[in-house]
Amino acid sequence: MTVYTLTRSRRKTLAIHVKPDGAVEVRAPLRLAKREIDRLVASKLQWIERKKEQIAVYRAAAPAELPPSYYGDGEFERTARDLIKMWEQRLGVTAAFVGFRRMTSRWGSCTFRTRRIRLNTALAYCPQECLEYVVVHELTHLRENNHSPRFWATVAGVLPGYKSAQAKLRAAQWILPGKNQA
Ligand SMILES: [Zn+2]
Repeated sequence: MTVYTLTRSRRKTLAIHVKPDGAVEVRAPLRLAKREIDRLVASKLQWIERKKEQIAVYRAAAPAELPPSYYGDGEFERTARDLIKMWEQRLGVTAAFVGFRRMTSRWGSCTFRTRRIRLNTALAYCPQECLEYVVVHELTHLRENNHSPRFWATVAGVLPGYKSAQAKLRAAQWILPGKNQA
């Protein structure tokens, strides 16, 4: 039996989260019976165990405890998607696919050919200006597939404060285990 904390709200579906500390949090609709929740949680046991293992591996590699997230549950991806929508319009580009993933050595990536963008979910541990900067950076790559002066002029033109976000990301680089194996 999995130990979990239960939060009920006006949501329609059940969601299970394994937090960075390995604790399991279940979000459920107001009226879903406890027995049904237990059944659903039990049916996800393999997934929960796999998540816990991934976290353990990550924590073994990480130099220190993760800082608290700047975002509430599910809020990070929502915020990121909103920012992407807004910046796609401003930059006049469209990403064919946006993925969210825990990456070990980079904050984001862009595959120009397939117009795919990936954001590191670890950006949740950095101030929002960092997320916005990475969104702008990766979307700008859909226009300039390089780090040429023109690329940086575009970034600076639309996001004049981007260097402050860059500095904060550099300070947070220890969160990326791949970056610490210098
Ligand atoms: Zn780049």
